[in-house]
Amino acid sequence: MNKEYEVVIIGGGPAGLTAGLYSSRARLNSLLIEKGMVGGQIVTAERVDNYPGFPEGISGFELGQLMHQQATKYGLKTIIAEVTGIELGEEQKGVQTTEGNFVAKAVIIASGSERLKLGIPGEEKFTGKGVSYCATCDAAFFREVPVAVVGGGDAAITEALHLAKFASKVMVIHRRDQLRASRILQEKSFSEPKIEFLWNTVVDQIEGEDLVERIKLHEVKMGEKSALNVAGIFISIGLKPNTDYLKGILPLDPAGYIITNDKMETGVPGIFAAGDICHDSARQAITAAGDGATAAIYAEEFLS
Ligand SMILES: Cc1cc2nc3c(=O)[nH]c(=O)nc-3n(C[C@H](O)[C@H](O)[C@H](O)COP(=O)(O)OP(=O)(O)OC[C@H]3O[C@@H](n4cnc5c(N)ncnc54)[C@H](O)[C@@H]3O)c2cc1C
Repeated sequence: MNKEYEVVIIGGGPAGLTAGLYSSRARLNSLLIEKGMVGGQIVTAERVDNYPGFPEGISGFELGQLMHQQATKYGLKTIIAEVTGIELGEEQKGVQTTEGNFVAKAVIIASGSERLKLGIPGEEKFTGKGVSYCATCDAAFFREVPVAVVGGGDAAITEALHLAKFASKVMVIHRRDQLRASRILQEKSFSEPKIEFLWNTVVDQIEGEDLVERIKLHEVKMGEKSALNVAGIFISIGLKPNTDYLKGILPLDPAGYIITNDKMETGVPGIFAAGDICHDSARQAITAAGDGATAAIYAEEFLS
């Protein structure tokens, strides 16, 4: 496989795929490197109703596939590999991956973010055995059994609503006394009879034999301890940017997100960033796609 490209794009979510579409259409020799499934986080969304052009909505998986098809049609190359580091050269940048090293004149970083973990006993042991970070992926395994969702933002409430189609009961456990989720999601969840809320409560431990059977909780105001029998626990407490491989190379904000200007330029000439990985990103498929287009347009300007 060719090892030298004009543009290397790291991450195959909406940001990276749109960057790939624009850079390939600009006839720049472009490579997209994705460590998992092309499409990024959106593939886990059962239905996307807010991406323009799809008045009836579209499944996240299909949206990701269509974006990839469109970019590939214009010549974007894709490999499945994990980027482990970037080496800054005078003219070119080295991109180190688990499938060998590549050289690029410009790099667009679009490696998104991943779910935060609770870091409590039992979480790792029961991951895939009742502990999940994706209701869209796993909800169907929890038919007519009680489950818990941890978190209070848009993602957590979306997961709870999806789970309510399968589970016998969905207990949303939130460490505060009100949700952060948008009003429309709050209203939907409050009117869903299968969803109940445990406010000011955190999970201390996940227990069971081979599969999750119960979780241990405590109420943060009075310190009262309790246990809840559930077959599944869906953790949706926020995101962590996938920037570990960039430390010391690019300016990052204290939370690890990349700082960019309006042209999606980072602090290093020739390195651009796009999507959820950027500081102040709205963290939506459409904003990620918009960032990807901007990054590719200014990468082309940089190269010319
Ligand atoms: C359940 C769920 C539902 C959602 N629903 C909606 C919705 O309805 N509407 C909406 O607009 N948005 C929705 N979102 C948010 C949307 O998915 C994200 O905002 C969008 O996917 C961000 O795109 P991105 O390209 O910036 O990053 P991502 O989609 O996170 O893609 C980044 C990609 O980079 C890859 N990667 C990471 N590190 C490396 C590495 N070192 N080497 C190679 N590859 C790497 C990852 O595997 C990933 O595929 C939802 C998200 C979730 C989780």
